[in-house]
Amino acid sequence: MQKTINLILTPEQASEEKFYKPLVAKELKINQTDISLIRVINRSIDARSRNIKVNLRLFVVFNEPAPKENEIIFKYQDVKYKPEIIITGAGPAGLFAALRLIELGFKPVIIERGKQVSDRKKDIAEIYREQNINPDSNYCFGEGGAGTFSDGKLFTRSKKRGNTQKILEVLKFHGAHENILIDSHPHIGTDKLPEIIENIRSTILNAGGEIHFNSRVTNFIIENAQIKGVEINNDLKIKSKAVILATGHSARDIYELLHKNNIQLQAKPFAMGVRIEHPQNLIDSIQYHCSVRSKYLPAASYNVVQQVNNRGVYSFCMCPGGFIVPAATSPNEMVVNGMSPSARNSKFANSAMVVEIRLDDLKEYEQYGELAGLKFQQKVEHLAFINGGNKLVAPAQRMADFVNNRISGSLPETSYIPGIISSPLHFWLPENISKPLQQGFKQFGKRIRNFLTNEAIIIGVESRTSSPIRIPRDNDTFQHPQIKGLFPCGEGAGYAGGIVSSAVDGEKCAEKLALMFS
Ligand SMILES: Cc1cc2nc3c(=O)[nH]c(=O)nc-3n(C[C@H](O)[C@H](O)[C@H](O)COP(=O)(O)OP(=O)(O)OC[C@H]3O[C@@H](n4cnc5c(N)ncnc54)[C@H](O)[C@@H]3O)c2cc1C
Repeated sequence: MQKTINLILTPEQASEEKFYKPLVAKELKINQTDISLIRVINRSIDARSRNIKVNLRLFVVFNEPAPKENEIIFKYQDVKYKPEIIITGAGPAGLFAALRLIELGFKPVIIERGKQVSDRKKDIAEIYREQNINPDSNYCFGEGGAGTFSDGKLFTRSKKRGNTQKILEVLKFHGAHENILIDSHPHIGTDKLPEIIENIRSTILNAGGEIHFNSRVTNFIIENAQIKGVEINNDLKIKSKAVILATGHSARDIYELLHKNNIQLQAKPFAMGVRIEHPQNLIDSIQYHCSVRSKYLPAASYNVVQQVNNRGVYSFCMCPGGFIVPAATSPNEMVVNGMSPSARNSKFANSAMVVEIRLDDLKEYEQYGELAGLKFQQKVEHLAFINGGNKLVAPAQRMADFVNNRISGSLPETSYIPGIISSPLHFWLPENISKPLQQGFKQFGKRIRNFLTNEAIIIGVESRTSSPIRIPRDNDTFQHPQIKGLFPCGEGAGYAGGIVSSAVDGEKCAEKLALMFS
């Protein structure tokens, strides 16, 4: 027989099959020896009360042989001589567009400004050694895109947008641990992601696709309102009847290029703020109601949200057991973000804390038209840079000091390797960010005991959580309304936020593109 059952267990009971097998047998009123297979379908932690529980959903086979496990195998056909399609950007949107194009019988030609992931690692090491940013190879640019050196959280709220399960299956097929199919909040970790990206590259190349690294798209070739190809590094021209534009939200040169050529863009609301860092054991003690976390529990996370005068203030991209990283893409700007290794085992818990920025906040920037939000982002990133120390030393303030408009006389230890310097963020952050953040922190402190504390620091600035610009596309065809064959895609085009939703959008763009040729 085959049955799906739900068990509510202690963290220890849920940690290994040898602990929960007797409980499964008891639940089904059978002997343990009758069981031929137990497969975990879903796992989630319920930490609402002191007695922390783990909810396990299990598929159990008993009194009959275990069926053959149907591992999903993706078949990528040879597309070497099929029609070529240019994809700009090898982030999740671009890579998943490429994989889907192969499935649909097209040859993807990926144009990527950055380097392949192993060389990109060296440039990231260089950021720490020299505190210099390579504008084409950094935490945002290069093979795998912005999410390559990240926590690799794969949770998305936008499940309605497409087949998120397939994205997880494809990642597993390329080397991700099968737990990503089980956990309610799956993540991969920065130590595991590069290998998965390399495996995806091999799939694309083995199928006959092309990937050109160190190749920045510097212009679009457009004739009679139809895309004809792209120009690379101000020199080489490559032709194609269609281009998927998946350059991410840090490719400001692409927005500027489109704007300069009067190609329609739309300003959109976005979010900006700071990164906050608490000691991980403090977050564990808050969330798990204990002084020391059980070895059967993962580093705890949180998710907070508050409306302040009708404006959303919320945590985003929380990285338990993680590190804060310098994520700028140009000199003279300070941008921070977060990542975690797969074990989430650092002493720190960091998260973005951001405030909704609306179009009516940008009146001062009206002269820049659709680029107003981008110019505001740049201004704040530059402010953070000049209020930091030398090069990538970031401005920081203790959390309670920030809320109380006090300068921090000292700063605690941090995971941010380039270093931090005490700075009055309450004073120099624009008021439409600092005031809602202060109010939001007070509310979070009321709701979660010990959360508002001077043991935590805020570091400026977290400015790249979402795109301030949308590149419009037709709802049905996904093509730009002015330019036939141009498919704006992923986070930079304003249709996704995060690894999985960008990958989903990449697949959808590939499918729409295939229809254009049918
Ligand atoms: C440090 C960090 C941690 C993150 N952690 C998470 C997380 O845990 N979970 C999550 O869901 N999201 C996370 N994100 C966000 C996530 O990475 C993005 O949402 C996602 O990568 C967007 O995918 P994309 O393909 O649309 O764009 P991107 O990933 O930004 O990829 C765009 C690609 O285009 C290339 N490019 C840009 N301009 C050009 C040009 N002119 N010519 C050629 N190529 C160009 C870039 O080099 C880049 O490789 C994180 C981001 C960062 C920076």
